[in-house]
Amino acid sequence: MYFRIGPVEWRSAISTLAAITQDVRTVPRALLLEGRRNLVGLTRDELRSALVEIGTPQKQANMRTGQIWQWMYQKGVRDFDLMTNLSKSYRSMLAEQFEVAVPEVVSRNVSGDGTRKYLVRIAGGHEVETVYIPETDRGTLCISSQVGCTLTCPFCHTGTQKLVRNLTAGEIVGQIMLARDDLGEWLRPGEGMGERPRLISNIVLMGMGEPLYNFEAVRDAMKIAMDGEGIALSRRRVTLSTSGVVPEIARTANEIGCMLAVSFHATTDELRDQLVPINRRWNIATLLDALRAYPKLSNSERITFEYVMLKDVNDSDEDARRLVRLISGIPAKVNLIPFNEWPGAPYRRSGWRRINAFADIVHKAGYASPVRTPRGEDIMAACGQLRSATERGRRSKAEISAEVTPVR
Ligand code: SF4
Repeated sequence: MYFRIGPVEWRSAISTLAAITQDVRTVPRALLLEGRRNLVGLTRDELRSALVEIGTPQKQANMRTGQIWQWMYQKGVRDFDLMTNLSKSYRSMLAEQFEVAVPEVVSRNVSGDGTRKYLVRIAGGHEVETVYIPETDRGTLCISSQVGCTLTCPFCHTGTQKLVRNLTAGEIVGQIMLARDDLGEWLRPGEGMGERPRLISNIVLMGMGEPLYNFEAVRDAMKIAMDGEGIALSRRRVTLSTSGVVPEIARTANEIGCMLAVSFHATTDELRDQLVPINRRWNIATLLDALRAYPKLSNSERITFEYVMLKDVNDSDEDARRLVRLISGIPAKVNLIPFNEWPGAPYRRSGWRRINAFADIVHKAGYASPVRTPRGEDIMAACGQLRSATERGRRSKAEISAEVTPVR
């Protein structure tokens, strides 16, 4: 997927981190203790049932669920003993049965433009990448939903990495939690929600993987991100980007209701079959039908069409005119993404004049057509560049499976 990138201006809060660093640090891993269930990523219903199973009275279970969610997702508390609005005996009962664990940050790189890229290790020893992009008016966290990807879009570095496995809901929401740890974004004692501007104000599912091929886990994680007692982001600030898994688009509207972006990238089936191979299964006309229905079903304002600018491939005036004809009637915005090169990439970035001429045609047709400034290129964190370094020199399957078994 592609993630949003914006003007090269940083929040003052993190401007001191402007230097390019290779800041490799080891955060002690919250080891999964035998028999303890991780509460991160459980839906409200699942958490409620888990609490009832350990003896919480039915009548109290909803309230306890809300309290524990606030401690975990708003205050960043991982130690039950610090959940001081619960009785001491209840806290020790929780600690015996449960844990609050997030994936381990293996390394953190900070780009010259303030973008932060986290290499995150999940159960089984697999790694994914998470990227934080600070801008003047917002901070966007781009999260991953799969280790690798099945879809092999040839311009995307992630697509060159085979799918290893889907992430669990806990591993997806855990990426938000570890970034909040790093940014120091949790509520402080005595502080209320909304008293400080949020550093992570937007979430985009545009990291590694196709989120709609991991629907249930993505849905459960995003429900936590959008819940008032969870991470508490408005659904308008959560964007899921798909390459075009048509059967799941209506389901996304009904069951998640977040904003939708689509990796479009080509205006003929012949070219899209190559650039976004899922097009061979659901072609442009079928995809556009599903997209036309989305805003009404989800009550969202518009669809974002992501369009990577590849020199002499999809960047002509004729492509721009075809694009506006195709999306006619759909409330839309077109994000133009200058191609971010990676080692061995088979394409080149379109020239800036070409990109601006393309943007102009789209804009004159009545669509916002921002050209995204590449962010985090120096640390390979820009759109389409994500690919976990260690997956390149991957260890054997036996070594991986000898590690911890995934749990939720
Ligand atoms: S663009 Fe998205 S769907 Fe295509 S290979 Fe990359 S991660 Fe997978």
